[in-house]
Amino acid sequence: MTKIARRKILKILGGISLGSFFPVIGHSAGLKEMSGNGIKTVNTDVLVVGGGTAGVIAAIQAARAGCSTIIVENGSQLGGTITTGGVGFPGLFHAWGKQIIGGIGWELVTETVDLNDDILPDFSIPFGKNHPQHQVRINRYLYALLAEEKCLESGVQLRYYETPVDVQFKGNRWIVHTIGKGTQTRIIADQLVDCTGNASLTSLAGFNVLKEEEIQPGSLIFRIGGYDLKSLDMEMIRKRYDEEVKKGRLIREDFRNNIEGLLRSAGDNIQHVMGADSTTSETNTLTNIKGRSSLLNTLRFLRELPGCENIKIVSMQPETGVRETYRIDGVYKITREDYVSGKIFDDSVCYSFYPIDLHDKDGVVPDHLRDGIVPTVPLRALIPKNSRNFIVAGRCVSSDRMANSALRVQASCMAMGQAAGASAALSNKLNTTPLNIPIGSIKSFLKEHKAIVP
Ligand SMILES: Cc1cc2nc3c(=O)[nH]c(=O)nc-3n(C[C@H](O)[C@H](O)[C@H](O)COP(=O)(O)OP(=O)(O)OC[C@H]3O[C@@H](n4cnc5c(N)ncnc54)[C@H](O)[C@@H]3O)c2cc1C
Repeated sequence: MTKIARRKILKILGGISLGSFFPVIGHSAGLKEMSGNGIKTVNTDVLVVGGGTAGVIAAIQAARAGCSTIIVENGSQLGGTITTGGVGFPGLFHAWGKQIIGGIGWELVTETVDLNDDILPDFSIPFGKNHPQHQVRINRYLYALLAEEKCLESGVQLRYYETPVDVQFKGNRWIVHTIGKGTQTRIIADQLVDCTGNASLTSLAGFNVLKEEEIQPGSLIFRIGGYDLKSLDMEMIRKRYDEEVKKGRLIREDFRNNIEGLLRSAGDNIQHVMGADSTTSETNTLTNIKGRSSLLNTLRFLRELPGCENIKIVSMQPETGVRETYRIDGVYKITREDYVSGKIFDDSVCYSFYPIDLHDKDGVVPDHLRDGIVPTVPLRALIPKNSRNFIVAGRCVSSDRMANSALRVQASCMAMGQAAGASAALSNKLNTTPLNIPIGSIKSFLKEHKAIVP
């Protein structure tokens, strides 16, 4: 980062006033009491709730368009499932030898690759059914740092450890009451962008949200080490594993019933947490406990096996990654048929590309798109029915379950984020709601900001 950029960031932070965040630590003149529960009022053009995969991109886009922009994030860093969830392999930016998602998401991903001396996959080689070859393996720690830097550089104000508790539309503006550690804030915003992944803001604002009876399992991302795979007797391990499952000590679904796969991948993205749901503090707590206790249980079992006595946890994410919860009930719902036929809508604002990818208790068998097909996302699928000055981006896009299992991937979430940020910014400038903006204006604006639009 240049000196100027760093100075700019420190100035923005100064504007937030660290003194008001830390009433005791910030003053040297003796002890001071914590300042009660006064509610602070903050005004902004665009409020993005959820600073994850989609939210970071939406906020940067809105800020680069000249809007005052705030991110409210209940965690401690940006990036969401990419960083806190540990899913550091965004896909897919390319389809059939051509780039179909670019813009701010691509800028952030390629800067992460460059600063870590990594190499991008060769996208000109079509990998057919082996789509993971085109995912970009990134250093997720670095991604969190760069996402934060880019937000601050573009003028986005970050509010970590905060969550909305009440959302009202009054006098053509949104009033969002948030609570955080030692803070209560009334954020008055012109436009809201829900990037919570769970449609939490949409629900609080009183719009309809939908969830399936059965949701996809989540996964706690971790790595294990301290064993020599080649020297292991897999037949014996499988037998011992089956016995322990029969006894009820191990749960069949925990590792997709694939103890061998767990050892072969050293744990990388193989665990399954059935019913994983991050919507509320209660469900999220349970989801994290389930992921961790399953790992602990398995670790103890593995260490009893010959050749595995020294197995150790090398890394573990602080949260279980969640694949599916609530989606918005949007003005349009993208269907599986729309997705697999690559339908282009009059209001398509971005592409999406991935196989239909629905995980269940046995794992996942991706259903690949036909050659040449590139699905798209219409603006209407980002807008809850009956809403005003409100848009969503990310995995809670309005879609049926099968379409959602593909739309939820990271490059698509980033592309939706940029489209949502652009629509919110233009709505703010024109004093209207995203659905009233001529679609041509949104598309040209996105192109100016290097996004690829259908
Ligand atoms: C185990 C696993 C493996 C995956 N594999 C791949 C893969 O290989 N390739 C790929 O591209 N995609 C993959 N995905 C899918 C992809 O990672 C996610 O669907 C995508 O990152 C979701 O982006 P999002 O912006 O919608 O949500 P997130 O990135 O989860 O961001 C949501 C953010 O909102 C915050 N938040 C939530 N509620 C609130 C609230 N009430 N108040 C304030 N903040 C809130 C969260 O803390 C989080 O930071 C995988 C997902 C999982 C779980």
